[in-house]
Amino acid sequence: MNNEAKHRAGRNMVKARFHEYYRRNRENITPPKSMGQREFGFLLFVEGVMLRHKSFNQPSELGKFIEATVPSDIYYSAAYYMDPEAPMDRKGWTGSDLIFDIDADHIETECKKIHDRWRCDACGTSGGGKPPMICPKCKGQRFTETTWMCRECLEEAKIEASKLIDLLIRDFGVNHEEVNLNFSGHRGYHIHVESEVFKNLGSDERKEIVDYLTGLGLDLKLLNLSYPPGESDISGKFTVHDPGWRGRIARSIEEIILRMDREPLGKLGLRREVIESIIEYRKNIGKDISEFIKDVDRKTWRQIIHKAVTLAKVNIDTVVTTDIHRLIRLPGTLNGKTGLKASKVNVKDLPRFDPLKETVAFEGEERIHIEEAPRFEIGGEEYGPFKDVDETLPAHAAILLLCKGSAYPVVKPIV
Ligand SMILES: [Zn+2]
Ligand SMILES: [Zn+2]
Repeated sequence: MNNEAKHRAGRNMVKARFHEYYRRNRENITPPKSMGQREFGFLLFVEGVMLRHKSFNQPSELGKFIEATVPSDIYYSAAYYMDPEAPMDRKGWTGSDLIFDIDADHIETECKKIHDRWRCDACGTSGGGKPPMICPKCKGQRFTETTWMCRECLEEAKIEASKLIDLLIRDFGVNHEEVNLNFSGHRGYHIHVESEVFKNLGSDERKEIVDYLTGLGLDLKLLNLSYPPGESDISGKFTVHDPGWRGRIARSIEEIILRMDREPLGKLGLRREVIESIIEYRKNIGKDISEFIKDVDRKTWRQIIHKAVTLAKVNIDTVVTTDIHRLIRLPGTLNGKTGLKASKVNVKDLPRFDPLKETVAFEGEERIHIEEAPRFEIGGEEYGPFKDVDETLPAHAAILLLCKGSAYPVVKPIV
């Protein structure tokens, strides 16, 4: 088989599995609120073809359509329209949910250097982590990237999701019931706020929300947190219970000075002298942040505030939130990059939610040839690393490798 035929055989195997899944689990697909006012989009297994501007009034219609077309990925609009099937400029936008995308792609993690790869399209030079701006060998600028999900990246994404939900509830007064949390089926979480309060906000207003969440343009003077602490009113009054960003910064500082050991403090990028002064203060002051900040020098104060803001701000894909026509993955459907289920998660269950185990969709085994794959985890087991081997693996692991384009089916010889 040539490369294209192997690739096609892999896609066919994945499609057959997806078909089987949707045949049995049509009822698990969770249609969005007011589904008749939403635009639906379907990415097909035929390379790159996207079917858009579809609409459905009943969950059963949607289910039938999915079973008949077997798309690789299924999306719906965060927006509500008068006529979802009309061309974009004639749909009649009537509002949009407030949505957030948290993806390991936007979070710095060390492990990416191990499990993510890039390859220069021109000369084949490859390396770990994110691709360089230009290829070090041929100066080419086009790369093929292979990204993998891993526990460490997903834990970081989970922390960001918790921070975001906390911000929405505490600082924006969003109700618990209006927050929908979904695992994307790959490297992150989507958060949808379905609320009349936010529904009619335009892009600019949504950008203001993004700026607040990401701490963009945060003014320490306005927060009464500029140096020296003595000159503002913070001594004795700066507490973890303060509202808004003051409280967030206070809680981060508390985290920094009370709980972190030398090593994580070093990882935060603090200088050695600062770390030693933190450890020294910790011995003397007990739990009062005001006591600590009274005596720190200007440089240390600035460094700690900067780190506190970095810890407290949320890492989101800002473009997703400001795009009021965005299509977003439908919960209960399969992710074509992994074969995992995009799944609704109860906010209170998030700390215990295991995205690599609870979202597995397939049973049985498949025999595949693996060209190359790093060590990875799925369904509670670890596999690999693999290089040019035939393996019989549980279907969820095999499908993941096929989805990633790292493997192709081993065809049984005809006897
Ligand atoms: Zn190159
Ligand atoms: Zn990772």
